[in-house]
Amino acid sequence: MRRFRNVKIVATLGPASEDYDTIRALHEAGADVFRLNMSHGDHDSIREKHRIIRQIEHDLDSPIGILADLQGPKLRVGEFANGEEELVEGAAFRLDLDPAPGTEMRVCLPHPEIFEALEPGARLLVNDGKIRLTVTECGKDYAETEVITGGTISNRKGVNVPDVVLPLAALSEKDRADLEFACQLGVDWLALSFVQRAADVEEARKLCDGRAAILSKIEKPSAVEWFDNILAASDGIMVARGDLGVELPVQNVPPIQKRLVRKCRAAAKPVIVATQMLESMVESPMPTRAEVSDVAAAIYEGADAIMLSAESAAGDYPVEAVHTMDNVAREVESDPTYTEIIEASRRIERRSVADGIVAAAREIAEATDIKAICCFTQSGTTALLTARERPRVPIMALSNLRGTARRLALSWGVNCVLCGELERFKSAVISAARAAREQGYAEALDQIVITAGVPFNVPGTTNILRIAPCQESLLYSTDPG
Ligand code: PGA
Ligand code: MN
Repeated sequence: MRRFRNVKIVATLGPASEDYDTIRALHEAGADVFRLNMSHGDHDSIREKHRIIRQIEHDLDSPIGILADLQGPKLRVGEFANGEEELVEGAAFRLDLDPAPGTEMRVCLPHPEIFEALEPGARLLVNDGKIRLTVTECGKDYAETEVITGGTISNRKGVNVPDVVLPLAALSEKDRADLEFACQLGVDWLALSFVQRAADVEEARKLCDGRAAILSKIEKPSAVEWFDNILAASDGIMVARGDLGVELPVQNVPPIQKRLVRKCRAAAKPVIVATQMLESMVESPMPTRAEVSDVAAAIYEGADAIMLSAESAAGDYPVEAVHTMDNVAREVESDPTYTEIIEASRRIERRSVADGIVAAAREIAEATDIKAICCFTQSGTTALLTARERPRVPIMALSNLRGTARRLALSWGVNCVLCGELERFKSAVISAARAAREQGYAEALDQIVITAGVPFNVPGTTNILRIAPCQESLLYSTDPG
């Protein structure tokens, strides 16, 4: 579906958005990619959401990206006899391996390796850091803590341990099973939670074996430290501000977000800014001014995509939240200051023929009244390089590979259209011109710029730039042969 904005919207699906009508309404309101959260819901419910998305894709005849988010080594407390308990400041609270239901005195933390790594003085942050505990004494199967900040602790709340490098495998047993399930289902992106080092990404890539692209969620201090290596090993990045803001002081998150977004653009890999973007819309039809500013800031920074979590998965106003993002995006992108910022931050080291061709395509299109940049892409690389240029004219990517078209749904400005198997450049030009007219980018008398790599079936060979009229009769008469 053609969008009148460049930044993409990722919407997480959940209980508030699991039927055909709601998911379709989210897509029509602007969601380009749907996130299936493997931390919640069983395989049957995820399979059903996947089926519905593919049905909508079929009904509307436009590629939709699906991102499966693996839970990763997320620590959670066990359950409480009463479902929840109130922890008061100064009280003692024990964590142990006993699976018996928790009380106000203790609860199970079913991760033996954590107790091995804990030391007195280490902080444990529960429920997004709302409750803070400090370890006073610990052994190999327990930790005594003092409640520093109290609050309500309830079943299966998350625990962060920022002060300790955890000896955890990147993928738990559950993650491995979920990864295989998601790959067999046919998702386009796999997101890895709590990545600590590039080796974590490589391990997932091996298991994934080309069946999906790999996106690393940056939410640990060590991932920030090793970011360059992680980026090199990944196909995309998520600035996962929720856990990042628990593991690091919250004020560190904005500068990290800015730095990561820039680095991703330089590497021509898509980056999502995520979490609490419109949090108040879980309960309110109106966002706060600060939230609107936050969404706008991510777009001004040049992020490829912005994401909704609880707002679309469990909130009262999922479709309104997507509309809000769409409205903010269109307003920001029509601001001349946005164009200035985006162009001033185009720091690209151009090293290859492909880099040169996409830059030339942008310059020609921007200097003339050419209506669109059409690129033929199989691996998706030409489209990613074109997106990195952040051109002022629309990008239309044509691919005969459905998987490529769906993956590109996450990338800034890329409108991907499926085309048939390509053989000759001449017929490719005709299909580009036709698609540009059909998709409303150009009319018969307009011109488009086309980039492609010939021969078509060799990936990574962008070697042609052609200016073509959109009218078929003119096409034949101007065809250089
Ligand atoms: P989550 O990841 O929603 O899976 O926790 C995003 C984040 O931590 O920001
Ligand atoms: Mn997280």
